[in-house]
Amino acid sequence: MEGSNQSRRKFLGDTAKAGLAITSLSTLPGFVSANPPREIITPDFTGFTQEPLPYSYNSLEPVIDAQTMELHYSKHAAGYAKNIQEAAAAEKIDTSKPLEDVLKKVSSYSAKVRNNGGGHYNHELFWKSMKASGEGKPSGKLLSAIESAFGSFDGFKTKFSDAAKTRFGSGWAWLLVGSDKKLAVGSTPNQDNPLMDVSEVKGYPLLGLDVWEHAYYLKYQNKRPDYIEAWWKVVNWDFVQKRFESI
Ligand code: MN
Repeated sequence: MEGSNQSRRKFLGDTAKAGLAITSLSTLPGFVSANPPREIITPDFTGFTQEPLPYSYNSLEPVIDAQTMELHYSKHAAGYAKNIQEAAAAEKIDTSKPLEDVLKKVSSYSAKVRNNGGGHYNHELFWKSMKASGEGKPSGKLLSAIESAFGSFDGFKTKFSDAAKTRFGSGWAWLLVGSDKKLAVGSTPNQDNPLMDVSEVKGYPLLGLDVWEHAYYLKYQNKRPDYIEAWWKVVNWDFVQKRFESI
């Protein structure tokens, strides 16, 4: 672990020298942590270990109940993190490099890397994209880009919600920047995401919504549309905006 932290710090140092965007999660508006200070992270770099949850299990109530959050973070997501580390060791993946690099060529690795590398990446992004009192909508450049791509913010919400509702079985809905540099909405099955070379929807994910039943079933049972509608209240648009501005 110590070795990988050192490598990670070195990577971050190199990234800073290259003049790329670096920020500390704790400087993001709306960030609340029980145990500051935290390790420096970039919005566009994901490691192979699970980061601390940036709020308490009950912080997102009533939208997401504490029991769901605890099981989701400490069992489901922790499992993906453990399994991607195992798979990385078995397949000689350098875990001091960004996980993103692996996902971009995930077809060269095993199904275990695809499922758990995707699962780990998606959840790390998901936790940071939420906070106790969301802004309700983005502002600035991201809002302008959304309005230009989807006509209006409400038009975007409808399109994203439809992608989340109609994803058959388990998967994710995404707001992403496509290869044409335009914003797009789409969905992926299982733990796939738009970074993957195997994904039909390709690009850089800005915001993802987990529509696996483990994300909502205790509180919402079969009513996935109610979960999706409520979720908009906890979207951390400041974080999404920083992500958009970092690319
Ligand atoms: Mn999940």
